[in-house]
Formats: sequence, C-alpha cells, structure tokens
Amino acid sequence: MTGPVSSAADSANAGALPAVATNTEKLATFAAAVATRALPPGDGFFDAVAQAMLARIAAVRDDCGGSDDDFSAWLVLAPSLPIASELRQSFVRLAGRPVLLPHFDVLRRWAEAEPVADLPAAMTDSERLALLYDALRQRNWFDEGARWTIAGELAELFDELTAAAVALPDDDAALAEQLARAYDTRLSAPLAFEARLVVELWRALSAIGRPDGAALQQLRLARLAATAARPMLVVLDAAPDEALSVAEREFLVRWAARQTVAVFYPQPRCHAATPVQAALDAAWPEVLAAHEATPPLIERARSLAATHPLSPLAERLALVSASGREAEAEAAVAQVFAWLGEGRRRIALISQDRLTARRVRALLERDEVLVADETGWKLSTSRAAACVDALLKTVAGGAYHRDLLDLVKSPYVVGGMASSPEMAASDARETAIFVLEAAVRAASAVRGLPRMRHALRQFAASSARMEQAGAATHAGPAAQAGAASLLDRVDAALTLLADRPAPLARWIERLEKALDALGARAALRSDAAGAAVLDLLALRHAELIEHRATFSFASWREWLSREFESGSFRDASVASPVVLTPLNAVALRHFDAALLLGGDARQLAPAAGGAFFNQSVRRELGLRTHDDARREMRRDLELLLVSVPRVVVVWQSEIDGEANLPAPEIDVLSALHQLAWADDLRRAPLARAVRSLSGDDVPSGKFSPPVAHRAAPSALAAAIPGRITVSGYATLLACPYRFFARSVLGLGAVDEVAETVDKSDYGALVHRVLERFHAQHASLESLSPEAAREALRRDTEQVFAPAIEENALALGWRLRWEKRLDAYLAWQGQREAEGWRWQQAETSVKRVFTLADGTSLEVAGRIDRVDRLVEGAADSDVGSGTQGSTRNEAGVSLLDYKTRTAKAIRDGLADDVQLPAYALLWAGREPSRRDDGAAELPGGDAHVLEAAYIALDDETVGAVAAVERDAEALADLARAHAQRLVHAFSALRAGAPLPAHGADSACRWCEMAGLCRREHV
Ligand code: SF4
Repeated sequence: MTGPVSSAADSANAGALPAVATNTEKLATFAAAVATRALPPGDGFFDAVAQAMLARIAAVRDDCGGSDDDFSAWLVLAPSLPIASELRQSFVRLAGRPVLLPHFDVLRRWAEAEPVADLPAAMTDSERLALLYDALRQRNWFDEGARWTIAGELAELFDELTAAAVALPDDDAALAEQLARAYDTRLSAPLAFEARLVVELWRALSAIGRPDGAALQQLRLARLAATAARPMLVVLDAAPDEALSVAEREFLVRWAARQTVAVFYPQPRCHAATPVQAALDAAWPEVLAAHEATPPLIERARSLAATHPLSPLAERLALVSASGREAEAEAAVAQVFAWLGEGRRRIALISQDRLTARRVRALLERDEVLVADETGWKLSTSRAAACVDALLKTVAGGAYHRDLLDLVKSPYVVGGMASSPEMAASDARETAIFVLEAAVRAASAVRGLPRMRHALRQFAASSARMEQAGAATHAGPAAQAGAASLLDRVDAALTLLADRPAPLARWIERLEKALDALGARAALRSDAAGAAVLDLLALRHAELIEHRATFSFASWREWLSREFESGSFRDASVASPVVLTPLNAVALRHFDAALLLGGDARQLAPAAGGAFFNQSVRRELGLRTHDDARREMRRDLELLLVSVPRVVVVWQSEIDGEANLPAPEIDVLSALHQLAWADDLRRAPLARAVRSLSGDDVPSGKFSPPVAHRAAPSALAAAIPGRITVSGYATLLACPYRFFARSVLGLGAVDEVAETVDKSDYGALVHRVLERFHAQHASLESLSPEAAREALRRDTEQVFAPAIEENALALGWRLRWEKRLDAYLAWQGQREAEGWRWQQAETSVKRVFTLADGTSLEVAGRIDRVDRLVEGAADSDVGSGTQGSTRNEAGVSLLDYKTRTAKAIRDGLADDVQLPAYALLWAGREPSRRDDGAAELPGGDAHVLEAAYIALDDETVGAVAAVERDAEALADLARAHAQRLVHAFSALRAGAPLPAHGADSACRWCEMAGLCRREHV
C-alpha cells in the first residue's frame, strides 16, 4: 500500500535499524489484541453478525453504561458499501426498536474522510507513473513503446511490496526507514536486473520527498489509531490474515489498545460449517501441511456422500455449456427470464466474460429488462473516448481520410454548426459531412488536409458543371461551405496538437483546446461518458500541473490510452432486479439467484501476477502469488455458492472450432458430484420462449419456413429513368435486378478512396496519355520514329507524374506502359499506312428513342477515339475493319482502348453491348451548335465502317472488331440493339419484372450481392 517517502534511509544504515517482526509474530499479536469471531457463512450470515455486534454493544454498555437505544458512538466497518448496507438492514431488524444506528462505512473510505492533522502532501498515482516513466527514459531502459506499461507494473509492484513489508509507521521518517529496510533487505539478493531496476527506481522516487497515496494511507491510519475515540466493529469477507494487510491489522491492534474492537468474519471452508461448505471443501481442499497427503477425489466423494446422503448442491448449482457466444448469451437471457417468472427479484449477472455480459445486457434491454451495472464501462469503450481517439489518430496519420471522416462523423464534433433559415443545424452538419466524404472519395484523396481541400474544390467545380447542365446535385454552395468549415475546424485542432514535445498537463490543455476547435467540448459535457472523459482530463491536469518532464505526441497518446483503459463510468440511474457485477463483489451478499457468465478455464482464472519476478521470488518477497490468487478466487466462488440459493454457471464449450474447457474448479466440482451422488450437475441450456410463435399463434402442423425466392421486382413507370448511359444498358442486359437497384432505387456502392493504384487507374492514365499524344500528333507522318517515341514517352511521364507523387505504386504501372510504347507506335504506323487517321478523342454521343407508350428514352455514351479513313486509300492498304466496297468512302472507326489482352477481349465479345451501342449512337447522334450558331454533327457526316477495341496488354498492340470487315453487319447489329432497347424499356414501363439473374462473372464483383438474395435461393 505504500511507496517512497522523504528522507529515505541509505541502504548502508539498514543494518542499524531495529529488527522487524515476522508475519507470524504480527498475526499472533493481532490474535492476542483483537477479539475475533468466525460465523457460518450463508443465508443468515448478516443476521448472525448483527446479532453478535448487538451483543457486543450490550456487553460494553453493561460495563461502561450508556443509552439503550443510542449506538451512534460505534463505528462499523465493512469490506464494501453493499455489504455495509445489508448489515445495516439486519441491524435495524434485529434491534427491534427505533435506535440511533452506528456509523457504517468501508475502512479506506472512512479513513480518507476523517480529518487528520499535519499529513504531508502526497504524490498522486498519475504523478508517480509519469516520474517512473521519466526515470526509465533517463536510464534508457526499455523501448519507448513499452515504458508506460513497465512504469504501471512498477507502481503496482511498489504498492504490493509496501503492503507486504511495511507495518504501520509512527511518522513519515519512520515510514521512510521501514521502506528503505524493506526494499533493501527484500531485494538485495542477486535478482540481477529486475531487482536493480526496482530498487533504483524506488530510490529515484524517494528523492522526490513526498509519499504516494498508499503510503499516505498508512500514515493516516497510524494517526487515526493514535487518537482512537470510538469503539469499532469490523466485518470481513475472509479471515483477518487474508482480508487485511499488515498495516490494517496493526491499525486494529493499535485501535484496540485504546477502544473496543471486535472483528467478525465467515467461517473458513475447511471447518465445513455448512453442508455446502463441506462439499466445496471436498472439491477444493485447502493445501494441507507438507507431511499430510490429500486423499484422492473418489475417497473424498465417498466420505462426503456418507456424511450427506442428499446433495446440498443439486438444487443450488447448475453447469451449462453453450455452443458459442451467442448461444451462451441466449441461454443466460432465457435463465434470467425463467427466474423473473419464478418471482426472483434480486438476480446477479457475474461478468467474468465481459463480451458475453455486454451481449446479455443488450438482449435483456431489447426485451425491456434494464440492467443495473455495478462493474461500469471502461471509458475506452465509450463513444466519447472514441471521439478523442479519432482526433489523435487523425493527427498521427497526417489526416488519413478514414480517420478524418471518423472524426467529423463523431456525434460530438461540430456541435453548434451554423444553421440557416432553410436548414436546421443538425441537417447542415450532416450535409457538410456528406459533401466532404463524397469529395474525398471522388478525388481519391488519401491523406493530408491540402489534398482534402483540393478535393472539395474539384467537387464544387463538378457540381457547378452538373447544375449548369440542369442535373440535380447534393452540393449546393451552403453545403460546400459547411464542408470547408469542417476542414477548417479539423485543421485548427490538428495545428493545436502538432507534435511539439510538452509536459503531460500541457498536452491535456492542447487536447481541450482542440476539442473546443472542433466544437466538441460542450457536446461531451452533456453526456455521461463524455463528462467522465472531461472530468478525467481535468483531474489529471490538476495532478500533473507541476510535472515538467516533456513527452512526445506518441508517448502522451499512449499515456492517454492507458488512462481511458483504466477509467470507467457507471450509469447509476438504473435500478433493476438484475445487477451486473464482478465475482468478488458478490461475496456474502443476498441475491435470489446468480448467473456466472464465462465459467471456462480462460475467463474464470486467477488474476495473473505482475510482470516482475517469478512465483518463487514473489513468494520469497511476501508478494501475492498465483496460488494466493487461486485461493481468493475459490473463496469468492465459495461465498457465492453458500450465500445464493440458485447459481447457474455458463460457458462456451467451443471457441473458434476448438474445445473450451470449464474452469478447473467447475470441472472438479462436477466430477466430485458425479462420484458422490451420480449427477455431474451439467444441465442443458434453457431455450428462450418466442412469444410470437407460441401456442395458438402457430398453425398446427403447417408451419414451415417461407421459401426464399430470388428478387424480381417491378418498378412504377415514373421510376424508370428517361436517360441512361451505354454502361447502364449493359447492366440491364447482364442483370435486370442490378439495374433496378442502381438506376431505379438509386443505390450504388460508395466510391472508395483508391489507396493503391489498380488496373482501372492504369487504364485511365493510359487513356489520358494517348488522348494527349494524339491531340498533338494526329498522324506520325511528320515525326521520325525516335521523335514519336520521345513524344509519347514525355506525355507518359507527365500524365503519370501526379499519380506517382500520390502513390509510388503508380511508378510500376508507368514502367509497364513504357514497355508497350514501341508496340503501340508500330500499330499506329500500320494503321496510318492503311489510310486511317486519328480524328478526335472522348467524343460524346447520344440518341433519343421513342418508347411504346410515347415517352422517350435518351441513351448517351462517350467514345474513346474516332479515326477517319482518308479518301483514296487503296483497297490493299485497308486492314482490319473496312469493307472493300466502301474503302474509299468517307467513314469512321469507333475505337475503345482496353488495357487487356486481345484474347480476353475476344472471349467476352459474344456478350458485348458497348461497340454495337456506339455504332447505334453514332448513326443517330444529335448535332451540336458551333460558335456561329450553325448545326454540326460530331465527327461530320461520316458513317461507321468499324467499331473495335484496341488491346493494349499484349506484346503487340492490335484491334479486336465487333464484327470483322463488315460495316453492314455492324449496322444490323446496331439496329437489333435499338429494337431490343426500345422493347426492354417499353416493357419496364409497363411493369415487367427485373429479375436477379446475373451470370457468375457478373455476380463476382456485384455490389448488390446479398440485396438480391442470390446466395439464399
Ligand atoms: S449479385 Fe448477381 S444476381 Fe445479384 S444483383 Fe448482382 S448481378 Fe444480379
């Protein structure tokens, strides 16, 4: 319980100090000075304790006189407030008349509240932790990432060592002497680096000259004992040598020297005061003296059955294994409802497995049974801490887009965003977030606020263009301004948290200002968890204000994570018959039933010891060992089983496909019970009653699950779009349902920010290179082969440069394309020799069709490249895609670049829609207006001679035509598509269904998979 104090004695002086009493001597002193009494634990324990206390009070009154009904001079101390409360109720009941009650409290709480003069200023736990971290850093011990953990372990170890070694001091100098002696004598053995580390850091802390919280508590107890002014009654949850520290025992001894003290505790299991204790002692016998052997389990079982022909546990304990977490939670909820149905009104949910406990709580709350939570939630699991974490992640990751979007979406951020007459503040905030996210995704802005701002500007420009074209957008000027203001707030917060090393308190100030910049502080204050986060920050700031050591952003962030991990908050407003609580808080308390969640070997296990020292060294030093922890856990289980009339232990029998065994204590108990009474206590999980399908609600013998059908919805005529693109038409033919989801419902996969450069990005870059190259060099005639290659290489370099700057992976794609330059130029030369000349790139074409019901449908497309056949090209010159009879006529070739192999393109040609659709749109394209107002057809009046893909991913570049060397056949194909298109959309407007019948190749990458129930049919 103690740490360093001022004027620590030099180890050289340790030998001059008086000898310290051994633990055995101290126990003997305690037994001689303090009246103790063990009482059988179980249902009547508190009544028995209250009765014994009243008797004690009466005896003292008989000796010293006093009023019959005024016990207010007495102090009653209990191990916890719930136990104090239950004891108080027994006291009132057994007093049988109105009395002035004693003061009921818990030792530590009472001691801290009592006024004590002249206590030295204490070193807080947070200050001690920071000092330990700093001491480790100065010595360059351990990696930076491990230092907070090591410092935390050291702090715990100091407390343990002190509790084990230090008796109650008379003053702080005496405490310093005791500590110095304890540390030197206990750690002077050659424990190598660990011992040196502990002693050296303890000395470093000693030099500060202030006791820590635990040391201060020892001094406080000593001062209080020196002025003991009232009689004291104490109830413990274990025998005094287990339940009290050395200093606490000595405190009671000193108090007893001046005042009456009586201690009451539950009879240890080995005394077998009740049949349940006898059974538990047979299952978990105390370790006997070294010379005595423990009888085998079967003998213990036989002997137990002989003494108790009827099992004391059969109606008390059930062991239930479930097949997984959800089954465990369902079984738990079913059990709780069964108990509530039986009229049990105090039910403990023991949360050994916190994940299952959360699930059980959620299921109960879904069924409107609230749970009173005594365990509380870790602050780190709260949305408030997640908001702070998102901010720190955004700083650490240089405004990585996912972190930034998580941050702005936090409900605490940007509270108070300006509203307008047309829009509430919350709507303004949502719209601003939407615009920011859409802009970031559209521009694939991976990281960095300048990049995000650029993305917003691009998004604004594109929205303006859409608006000019008469299209609706979500991004009006107000929404764009809101998104920009969001970025401004994030920018301000990030600037405040820029990585300049600072003391911890200064970092907290920066964080608070950053939260202000985000508009989050007021919102955090209005929520229980948020207020707990702010209060924790304020407390730590006050505690650490004098601590001047500086910390990097990374160190401070790790410190803060630890604070959130160890901090908790509770919603104390819920009062419920179902109480979620840890195992060690149930001991002795009255519950009608208890459900232990996580009774397996992983969850129901003794707490691990600290990282320092192995078990034998810990035993040598008088520290708590693994055996001690197991003994305490068994005692907690024992007190649960003797106090609560109905206990169910549940666990998962399987985790990740592997068997998950029950805890050894549970397993042994089950085996013992089987041997003694032919019942292993295992029970099947209860099934939850499904109210809507029970009894008369279910048609007899005719209930069967509905057959799943693949989706095939129809759409109202008004919902069928009047304008589609060529790719929308292709989607309709590949899978009508996908078209329905995308174009009728307006669903679509949200653009993902491209964090890598993939094949489609490569394709887009190559398109841009070729567009740029041919815009300057429609023909290669005027260029030497070297000049042509250099020009294409230069364009490649310039187009790829921004992508490489954004992501180095783009360099690999550029190198891949650079290997194709010669092949491409060779193909282009060949094509020019055949009479083709590049005419234009990215040509928009559209055509309007009239449907059966008289409405119209506009189909639009964009053609990568259009080539024109020059007049007079010789028949023999004309290569792929031209028809001999029309070779000298003015005609065009519609081309689409594909960064795929010719074979892959050919394999998909049978289902291809794109090339015939381009031919169809070209033939019926609408004229556009020139500057002088005259009408002009894009590409002039030339008709289509061919439509082809250019395969760019082979060693040689080549064209793959939709129809080889037959312009008429291509025109026929285009006309067939026109009929199909008109027929399909006329049918859709008349209510034809849109079934989900995509081929595997379409389904593989479909974003609507799941929605169409394809997997469930
Ligand atoms: S997964 Fe297949 S069947 Fe379902 S919508 Fe997509 S393409 Fe159609």
